[in-house]
Amino acid sequence: MKEFTHYINGEHVKGTSGRFSNVYNPATGEVLGKLPLATPAEIDAAIAKAAEAQKTWSKVNPQRRARVMMKFGALINEHMDELAELVSREHGKTLPDARGDVQRGLEVVEVCMGAPAMLKGEFMDSAGPGIDLMSMRQSLGVVAGITPFNFPAMIPLWKMAPALVCGNSMILKPSERVPSTALRLAELLTEAGLPDGVLQVVNGDKEAVDALLDNDTIQAVGFVGSTPIAQYIYGRAATNGKRAQCFGGAKNHMIIMPDADLDKAADALIGAGFGAAGERCMAISVAVPVGKETADKLIDKLVPRIEALKVGPYTSGDDVDYGPVITPASLERITGLIGSGVEQGAKLVTDGRGLTLQGYEDGYFIGPSLFDNVTKDMDIYKEEIFGPVLCNYRADSYEEALELVMDNEYGNGTAIYTADGDVARDFASRVNVGMVGINFPVPVPLSYFSFGGWKKSAFGDLNQYGPDAFKFYTKTKTVTARWFSGIKDGAAMAFKELD
Ligand code: NAD
Repeated sequence: MKEFTHYINGEHVKGTSGRFSNVYNPATGEVLGKLPLATPAEIDAAIAKAAEAQKTWSKVNPQRRARVMMKFGALINEHMDELAELVSREHGKTLPDARGDVQRGLEVVEVCMGAPAMLKGEFMDSAGPGIDLMSMRQSLGVVAGITPFNFPAMIPLWKMAPALVCGNSMILKPSERVPSTALRLAELLTEAGLPDGVLQVVNGDKEAVDALLDNDTIQAVGFVGSTPIAQYIYGRAATNGKRAQCFGGAKNHMIIMPDADLDKAADALIGAGFGAAGERCMAISVAVPVGKETADKLIDKLVPRIEALKVGPYTSGDDVDYGPVITPASLERITGLIGSGVEQGAKLVTDGRGLTLQGYEDGYFIGPSLFDNVTKDMDIYKEEIFGPVLCNYRADSYEEALELVMDNEYGNGTAIYTADGDVARDFASRVNVGMVGINFPVPVPLSYFSFGGWKKSAFGDLNQYGPDAFKFYTKTKTVTARWFSGIKDGAAMAFKELD
């Protein structure tokens, strides 16, 4: 069986722990290989080498560091199809969706090509008599990135590109379910000219993560994953004196106003609810039509669209709308939650359970499910399902819909469909959610803005990528300088004692 490696000091190295986890192809259930789970000693050794490499890397001028990003971006483009295939094989998403995963990461690399402009400091001339102030942005040292399974390319790129271009070294611990894309990206960075040891990819589980959190050399931790783990990592990193930004789970709502174009709203819900089998932190999992008529019409439009969805392996080509979920445990959890929805009184309009695909009986496939008459106390409303399940919550008024979104413990993304600019403005202004879409279902900001949720969807301040990332991955030093008057007061003509 294939044995995966770590990527340390510019080369692949075998794990020494003797502990492994299997990496699966979720479309077939086939084991693709065994992944070594690093020990604290392996983590500490990788960090020590990264610290050594960072001393030189931080002194490389910003423009030259940016040139590594330029070459890296070119290599990602060149290897786009290969990277997408790696994503799809271990994650299960369709190839077009996998290319999007790589593309949205590449766009962050592109912003990092302009890093020198972002790394400039500030200067105030004559802040007082003969006094100047300047602030500079300096690298932190060695930082850690810990990433989830659902975007095997995009999220590691969101972490590594800004961290590295700011002059840091990074230890990246990708999700143990999808290690290959991060390992390949590390190879491409070496090819792009990144010095050995500046990016170390170490595979592992909680033991490896805890070793990162407890190592004094690690200055900052960037995490993306589920809310309980985000909160845990934030707490432990902070206790150990590190800066941390930890992005968590979500329950994203889309309000559909009576004046909305319902065909467009229904299409948006299908893509945002079921794309990538619902395994997106920006998936819409709750539709909130306002008024009975809107709700009835919306359901009528959703049902045929849902029935037309094609579920299958990525190898079936562009014909497939979404693939399997990530693990048998995830499949079981989603199936169980659908059962709980029925038991707790929601109306199951389409039932995706029990789907088997000929030739892929061992894959983790589940069809799309739609629930109507969902209420706040049901588990299908309270939990992040992270599967192809859309809940419909009927609201009587805009205020009730807004209150529902505001009361939810998560605050990652939300959207409103309406033809009324006034209600759209009101929604964007009042809602307590980090990313808002107006007639736009998945409002992931472009790479020169930044990404981050509110409430239990994010712990720590500063968002991911964009200008915030340059702040997160550097520390500010401010210099107040005074020069007393000197030779400019005039030439001394007489030969005399110095005073
Ligand atoms: P996860 O929390 O299970 O794992 C994320 C990372 O944490 C992995 O690298 C994993 O190895 C590590 N980890 C898991 N358990 C740990 C523990 N007990 N101690 C220390 N480390 C641990 O998340 P996942 O299942 O890989 O990803 C799905 C979740 O990520 C969803 O909740 C989704 O909403 C969220 N997500 C959030 C964003 C965002 O930006 N807010 C983006 C993508 C995904």
